[in-house]
Amino acid sequence: MRRLRNVKIVATLGPASDDYETIRALYEAGADVFRLNMSHGDHGEIARRHGIIRQIEKDLGRPIAILADLQGPKLRVGTFANGEEELSEGQDFRLDLDEAEGDNTRVRLPHREIFEALEPGSSLLVNDGKIRLKVKDCGKDFANCTVTVGGTISNRKGVNVPDVVLPLAALSEKDRRDLDFVCDLGVDWLALSFVQRPEDVIEARGLARDRAAVLSKIEKPAAVKNFDAILDVSDGIMVARGDLGVELPVQNVPPIQKRLVRKCRAAAKPVIVATQMLESMIESPMPTRAEVSDVAAAIYEGADAVMLSAESAAGSYPIEAVTTMNNVAREVESDPTYREVINASRGGHKETVADAIVSAAREIAETTNIKAICCFSQSGTTALLVGRERPHVPILALTPLVGTARRLCLSWGMHCVITGEVDRFKQAVISAVRAARDEGFALSTDQIVVTAGVPFNTTGTTNILRVAPCEERLIYSADPE
Ligand code: ATP
Ligand code: MG
Ligand code: MG
Repeated sequence: MRRLRNVKIVATLGPASDDYETIRALYEAGADVFRLNMSHGDHGEIARRHGIIRQIEKDLGRPIAILADLQGPKLRVGTFANGEEELSEGQDFRLDLDEAEGDNTRVRLPHREIFEALEPGSSLLVNDGKIRLKVKDCGKDFANCTVTVGGTISNRKGVNVPDVVLPLAALSEKDRRDLDFVCDLGVDWLALSFVQRPEDVIEARGLARDRAAVLSKIEKPAAVKNFDAILDVSDGIMVARGDLGVELPVQNVPPIQKRLVRKCRAAAKPVIVATQMLESMIESPMPTRAEVSDVAAAIYEGADAVMLSAESAAGSYPIEAVTTMNNVAREVESDPTYREVINASRGGHKETVADAIVSAAREIAETTNIKAICCFSQSGTTALLVGRERPHVPILALTPLVGTARRLCLSWGMHCVITGEVDRFKQAVISAVRAARDEGFALSTDQIVVTAGVPFNTTGTTNILRVAPCEERLIYSADPE
């Protein structure tokens, strides 16, 4: 199965996308990466969804990435006896440490530290700022609040306290347990919430021990400030606009998004633009024009991936939401303006052989009748360099490592194929040609570009480029070695 667009789609799984049929339909509609949010659902549920994704991967014969999103030091309310409650402006609402389920007058906020830091007059923002509470009076285990903006509050909604500095560790006890659990289960990406410093990422990497790639969610002002250092130690980035737009004035988010996307591309690391992309599709089969424009803007900017949160996890139209993103992506990517913008913003090259080879591969693909760039990659680094070029022909990332193939699913343009081990370049060319033909990228009369590193099976040695005919007989006769 071949995608007809380059930008990737991440779909969050939840109660609305919980069985084999629905998740497979999401994949077929265009989801390339599935996000498991550790803030919702217990380990049993997470393991079950993980198992379903791996089964679909097996049934369709295509690698699929799984991203586990760790809750991080996010404040969340507990649960409600009725699952949800309607809060109206002007009413009283109490937050406390009582373990009883919540109702219309109170709910548990299981974070002792927060009560110590609150003061009368502090504002609390619930559910990405949709509901607002103002503290009237508070003690060491409660806060009596007035609802200043009402709405529906439901189980485990997030709470932000933008004007109070909270003394919270980057990884909670729960995060550590979750991290080990999902790494053992076998996820490809770990997303870290509320990263503030590069040390937070380094700590998580130490715990993950190469079992998964690490992606930093940028949703705190400190992370924006320390972005370059955080990017350096991360494998990827998520522009997590929900909390970012609560922690900072909301109008600051678009310029930050543009800047972060550009920096990630220059660093050849995948960047996801996330939150509220098609928010109205939680309840409606049709997006708003503004939402379509937002998804398009992220793609024009050069993002690797766009993401669905509640739209696919808890909405009424998860498949329609993925289809909408897929359609927007295809339209944007066929616009000549997209090409102009993408070409004009190419950058980040270093003076290395690998950089020179990938840009040569792109130039050759532009000037002659080439159907694909096929790159052999162990760790995925060379494939990411090819992706940074944003070539106008498809990229086939060939790797013997299933983990590499899955991780690359998050990155712009990658069509990943798992090959057997190759140890000679000629063998590599033959397997690239086979992959390009089998996967529907080239006919026997076409040509492809192949890049690889010799000797094989070592990381970071891309040093060879070949324009290969797609007819095997020609490969044999053209190449004595
Ligand atoms: P984050 O800050 O990590 O994005 P979130 O609470 O915003 O956390 P999302 O994954 O963005 O969570 O999903 C948005 C909403 O969809 C959630 O607030 C929740 O109501 C619902 N949701 C998502 N996943 C699940 C799930 N597994 N079980 C129940 N509800 C879910
Ligand atoms: Mg968040
Ligand atoms: Mg969210």
